[in-house]
Amino acid sequence: MTTTADGAPADSAQASFSLELNDDQRDVREWARGFAAGVMRPAASEWDEREETPWPIIQEAAKIGLYSFEGFGQFWADPTGLTMPIVNEELFWGDAGIGMSIMGTALAVASIFGSGTPEQMGEWIPQCFGTPGDVKVASFCVSEPDAGSDVSALRTTARYDEAKDEWVLNGQKAWATNGGIAAIHVVVASADRELGARGHAAFVIPPDTQGLTQGTKVKKHGIRASHTADVFLDDCRIPGRCLLGGKDKLDGRLARAREGTRSKSQAAMQTFESTRPVVGAQAVGIARAAYEYALDYAKERKQFGRAIIENQGIAFALADMKMEIDCARLLVWRASWMARTGQKFTAAEGSMSKLKAGEVAVAATERAIQILGGNGYTREFPVERWHRDAKIYTIFEGTSEIQRLVIARAISGMKIA
Ligand SMILES: Cc1cc2nc3c(=O)[nH]c(=O)nc-3n(C[C@H](O)[C@H](O)[C@H](O)COP(=O)(O)OP(=O)(O)OC[C@H]3O[C@@H](n4cnc5c(N)ncnc54)[C@H](O)[C@@H]3O)c2cc1C
Repeated sequence: MTTTADGAPADSAQASFSLELNDDQRDVREWARGFAAGVMRPAASEWDEREETPWPIIQEAAKIGLYSFEGFGQFWADPTGLTMPIVNEELFWGDAGIGMSIMGTALAVASIFGSGTPEQMGEWIPQCFGTPGDVKVASFCVSEPDAGSDVSALRTTARYDEAKDEWVLNGQKAWATNGGIAAIHVVVASADRELGARGHAAFVIPPDTQGLTQGTKVKKHGIRASHTADVFLDDCRIPGRCLLGGKDKLDGRLARAREGTRSKSQAAMQTFESTRPVVGAQAVGIARAAYEYALDYAKERKQFGRAIIENQGIAFALADMKMEIDCARLLVWRASWMARTGQKFTAAEGSMSKLKAGEVAVAATERAIQILGGNGYTREFPVERWHRDAKIYTIFEGTSEIQRLVIARAISGMKIA
């Protein structure tokens, strides 16, 4: 094998596969890391205790362009698909509760982007963010009290009032991140309940719409700076143009469903598989925070006359944490790259990445507590907060059981209950 002056194989420049980040990706990573370390980390404990949306921090993020529709657009635009997960990992390394307050908007934006017409994207996406002087957040409302893992069971209805060209929404949404405090709510409702999931459609509820009210704000175990609440829709009337994708498209889809034409479940699966790696990247960020903290601590803390890391029991735990985190990140990057380059998810690789990353985050933060001993169990040290924050990643955006179900169905082609 011939090599270049710096020792690299001579043909490495032509290699079509590389895990090396390019200059733009490295720059964005440093930028997000700087914000996470300088602004989010120092504020994390306070907002966790306050259990309130950290508006001043979101505003700071907006001022530097990190929280803006142009910024998010730039993260998505990377043709390799890696910038969005990289930014998410850094922000959630900084703090998951604040991170979710910043990134919660992305779910609604992704829905408008995925289902909306160009006019709808132009009208609603900027309103999800507001401006640096007047920041806003958005909320994506699918789950209901009786429709969590089983989204097809949702009961919220959308009725079309033809005379007024308005949609009338009724129902209750549960667990909505930013629910009730958002400028824009994207609500998934049933336009025809007999059709199950095939009768669902997504609607934008514009700011200050009558009939949308916030229910009880949920007191949570972790990501406490992120607002979670029920949302009630009581004869909530919205203009016809708020149906994402438009009425003709929905009518065509409902007609095909009534005729029993093959469902578009493949398209829906592609969408989930594309958004899950970003959620996985958030979990990787939390896991990495815990690992780094525990590694430093284990080198400092002395017992029996030596640093605790000099015991294999501690050192091997840290080796496993590092390996598992890298493994999770690689799955996240693979799925993000697949999504961006339009690869087919034949083995539910997006679900795989979210499943692995969520479980790694829970395990790594638990181990970090163990490595810190008594200190790990107190609120004087951040690892207990990271452990509380990590747990949500085996629950939302599809529980670990549901991810396994999706993967099992994808690899087997069988109907697994
Ligand atoms: C902090 C937080 C934020 C959230 N944000 C949002 C949001 O912004 N928008 C939104 O729409 N939703 C949101 N959710 C809702 C979240 O997506 C749901 O909680 C999640 O999908 C699980 O639904 P569930 O809580 O009803 O649990 P259930 O569906 O009742 O599940 C209970 C248990 O049963 C298991 N289970 C269910 N079905 C099966 C099966 N077929 N096989 C094996 N096991 C099964 C589950 O894995 C779980 O362990 C949020 C939730 C939380 C806690």
